[in-house]
Order: sequence, then C-alpha cells, then structure tokens
Amino acid sequence: MEFEAWWLLVPLGCFALGWFAARVDIAYVLRDARALPAAYFRGLNFLLREQHDKAVESFVDVSRRDPHALDLQLALGSLFRRQGRLGEATGIHQSLVDRHDLPKDKRELALFELAQDFHAAGIFDRAEAVYESLKGTSYESEAVTRLASVLEQEKAWEKAIAARQRIEQLSGEPQARYISQYHCELAEAALTSGNIDAVRTQLTAATEANRNSARVQLITFRAAMKAGDTAAAEAALQALMRVKPELVVLIAEDVVALYEKLGRPELGVERLAAAQSESTTTLGLSRLMDASLKIEGNSAALSRLKQALSRQPSAREAGRLLELESGNVDSGAGKTMLDTAKLLYRATDKVPGFHCGQCGFRAPRYYWKCPGCNAWESFRATPLGD
Ligand SMILES: [Zn+2]
Repeated sequence: MEFEAWWLLVPLGCFALGWFAARVDIAYVLRDARALPAAYFRGLNFLLREQHDKAVESFVDVSRRDPHALDLQLALGSLFRRQGRLGEATGIHQSLVDRHDLPKDKRELALFELAQDFHAAGIFDRAEAVYESLKGTSYESEAVTRLASVLEQEKAWEKAIAARQRIEQLSGEPQARYISQYHCELAEAALTSGNIDAVRTQLTAATEANRNSARVQLITFRAAMKAGDTAAAEAALQALMRVKPELVVLIAEDVVALYEKLGRPELGVERLAAAQSESTTTLGLSRLMDASLKIEGNSAALSRLKQALSRQPSAREAGRLLELESGNVDSGAGKTMLDTAKLLYRATDKVPGFHCGQCGFRAPRYYWKCPGCNAWESFRATPLGD
C-alpha cells in the first residue's frame, strides 16, 4: 500500500522539474560559470604581456558579471590609474569607499588607492586628506611617505617636516636630509620677506638635521650680505668652499661685491679661481673670467683663460679668447676673430650650466629639487668640457 503511494508522487516531481527548467536557463548558468574565470585569466594574461587596454576590457567584463568581485575592482581601478584614466580610477575607488558592507582591510585599501588617484590627478588637498585618514591602518607607512611628496608639491614645508618625522618613527629610515631641505626652504622664504629671526631659527634647525649642508652656507652668505655683515659672509663663503666649491658659482657676483666692499677686490677673483680649481665647471669659468676682466684687466684675464683652456675646452670661452686676442692682430684678422667669437657665443647661448646627476635633466639655473625626477640636491654645475 505504501509502495503504491510513493509512485503517485513521481508525476508531481516531474512537473516540479519542468517548472524549474522553464525558469532557469541551465545552459546559460553553465556557460557563465565557465566564462567568468576564463575572462579573468585572459585579463591576467594581457596584464603580464603589458597589453593594458585589453586587460582592462577583460576585467571590466568580469566585473560587470560580478559587481561584488572586490579584488577585481581594486585591480581594475589601479590599472585605470596607471593608464592615466584617472576619472575612471577615482570612480571605482570612490564607489568602493562609499559602500557600507566592505570589510575593513578592503576599505582601507580602497582609500589608499583613492588617495593615489587624487595625487596623480594633482588634486593635492583631497589626496592629503585621504592619506591622513589612513593613520593607524596597515597602509600608514606607505601613505605618509606619499603624503610627504604631496606636501612637497604643495610647498607646505612645516607639514612636510612633521610627515618626515612620522616616516622616521614608523620605518626607522633617516629623513634628515629632507628635513634640512624643508628648513632651508622656510629660511629662504623668511629671507625674502626680511624676517631675519626666522631665517636664523630655520638655519639652526637645518644644520641640526644636516651639518654639511651647502645650502645652509649659501643662505647664510646671502643673509649676511643683506645685513651688511661682511665677516659672517666671508665665513659662510669659506664653509661653502669646503663643502661644495662648485656652488660658489651661484653667488659669484656677490663674492666680487663682498671683497670690493672689504677694499680687496683682487681677493674676490682669487676666491672664484680657488673654487674653479676645486671643481672646473663651465659656468664657473665664465664667472671667473667676468670678474677677472673687471678687476684684473685684459692681460691677467687672458693668461687665466689660456691656462684654463689648455686643461679643458669650452666653446664659449674659446670665443672669449678670440675676442680678447682680436685687438692684438691686424684689423682684417681681428674682424674675422671677432665674427667667429660672436658665432661661438650665439651657438653656446642656450647651453645650460647645470644638470641632474640622477636623471640628466639640464637647465640654465640651479634647482634644489630636480624638476625632472624630484630628487633633492641632485643638480650639479656642468663640468667644463661637457
Ligand atoms: Zn633629476
């Protein structure tokens, strides 16, 4: 009796199965399950082959099928940023941060990514705020390092000093050379606004961070010249000569003015010559020749020039040699020499006097922070003959 009753349930079961099959496209489910990982691995493959456009397409495809695939969305956002598609990257990361169901670690990662999007887009105030919000998370160390770079770009030197101190505490890596540069930036700003007390305070702090800072000596020299303190200026010049003689070229005209003021102009030329002999730079020779011609006269300048050019060539100063010698020959030859000198001046007019020792960026002026690679104090006066 019981066996027969069981058979009565069979048609009912078939009906239920038919009802279910009509509503669920089993073929679709199976295809989808297979397509998801395939697209994912296809994306990875493109990524490894550095075909970023195709990788993004594949990941967008997977992401569309499963909006909760967090890791994928995070990878996608990061890819967009690397491609310079900052609006799309920010969109993905902001939507993740706005979600309330996100696990803590994923939310922190999304915040870290979002801060980098703002940073890359140059929206510094927002980047700063998001990096700051990562305090106390596992991303704090990386976030504060990037924060320091944002603050440098904003020229927010006080905040940048605090950020570097935090980096030192978190990682144990010395940050003194950055801190010294930031104090020098503040000292220069104070010097421009005429706040001598602030200049002194900042220079003391810069020296505490870096005892061999050439920049501290340069600012000390300029501040002393501004205040008319010749003894302090001379002491700073001598300290600079010991630390980085090639940078004396940055204050060449002031050096001449200092010794003119002291009633010993020839000593100014000697100082420039001493700096040039320590580090023979193109611009250094030019400045030395300007000073020598002005103070020592043609014949002494000529002998200095011949001596320098016999050691290392300089197209610009070879022009000066021709110009100076043109008066000692007959007028026809003299004119040819003058014309050649002018050609050499014109050809070398735009030759930069400084370059970055790290990335090779060349510029006619000195930068404490390279505009090419953002390295601090990587600029060098270009050697004579280069
Ligand atoms: Zn550089």
